[in-house]
Amino acid sequence: MKFLNIEDKHFLVLGLANRKSIAWFVGKTLEAHGAYVYYSVRSPERKKELTRWIPEEKLFICDVERAHSIQQLKQQMAASVSHLDGIVHAIAFANFSKEFKTFYDTRREDFLQAVHISCFSLVEIARTFKAMLTPRASVVTVGISSQVTAIHYGYMSPIKAALESVVRFLAKSFSTDGEVRFNCVGSGPLKTSASAGIPNFLKNYLFAEKLTLRKRALETQEVANTIVFLLSDRSSGINGQTVVVNAGMDFNYFDEQVIDAVI
Ligand code: NAD
Repeated sequence: MKFLNIEDKHFLVLGLANRKSIAWFVGKTLEAHGAYVYYSVRSPERKKELTRWIPEEKLFICDVERAHSIQQLKQQMAASVSHLDGIVHAIAFANFSKEFKTFYDTRREDFLQAVHISCFSLVEIARTFKAMLTPRASVVTVGISSQVTAIHYGYMSPIKAALESVVRFLAKSFSTDGEVRFNCVGSGPLKTSASAGIPNFLKNYLFAEKLTLRKRALETQEVANTIVFLLSDRSSGINGQTVVVNAGMDFNYFDEQVIDAVI
C-alpha cells in the first residue's frame, strides 16, 4: 500500500479556472497518485478551454451562485460516478471591480454575494453530496493563513473567518451519522487568477515573500500537497481544523531584513 492510499479513490475538485489554480495542482497530484478526479468549473467557456488538458467527461459545470446548479452538478455526476472519497472546495469571489474606501462602506449586495459564493456554497455542496460521500470521506476548503486587515483584500478576510467556522460546524453536524471530516488549508499568498484580481496584490505578494523564514515565496504545489494529505486517510485524526501553509510568514513580523529595509 502506498503511503497516501488514494489509488482508485474518487474526488471532486471544484474551483478550476486554469493551470495556475490551486484546483489544478490538487487534481494533478491526486491523479499522479492513481486517483480518479472530476473537476467542476464555473462556465461553459471555461470548460471548453480546459478540454485541451482534461477529458470532457471529467469536466462539469457549476456556478454555485445559481439556484439548483449544485443539485444539477450532482445529478450529472451521478450518471457516471457512484461515490466520492473526497471533495475540494477551492472557490472564492469578491467584487473587486469597485474601489474599496473603507470596510464600513462595504455594499451589502457585494458582501452577501461574496459570502454566498466563497463560504455558504461549502454548506450547500456538503449537503447536496452527503449521500454520495463514503463513510470516511474528507472535505477540504481553502482559507487564508492569517486574518489580515489589508485594505485591498476588502471584506474577504471576515468571510474567510466565517468559512473556517463553517468547517467546524460541518464537521460537527456530519459527525452524528458518520466519520466524514472537514478541514481548511490556510494558504499564504499565491499567484493565481483569484489573487491577480485583488488590487495591489503583487506588492503584498512580494512583501509576504520577504516575511517567509526561507525568503522564498510559497508555491501552489505546497498548498496542493497539504490538501491532498488532508484528503487522504493519513490525516484521519485531523478534523475541523485550519492547517496553515505559509512558510512561516505570519509570525515573522520582526524579521531583521524587513526592519532594515524600513528603517
Ligand atoms: P482561482 O481563480 O484559480 O480559483 C478560484 C475559483 O473560484 C475559479 O475557478 C472561479 O471560477 C471560482 N468561482 C468564482 N465564483 C464562482 C461561482 N459563482 N461558482 C463556481 N465557481 C466560482 O484562484 P485560486 O487561488 O486557486 O483560488 C482557490 C481558493 O484559494 C479560493 O478560495 C481562494 O480564496 C483561496 N486562496 C487563494 C490564495 C491566493 O493567494 N491565490 C490565498 C489563500 C486562499
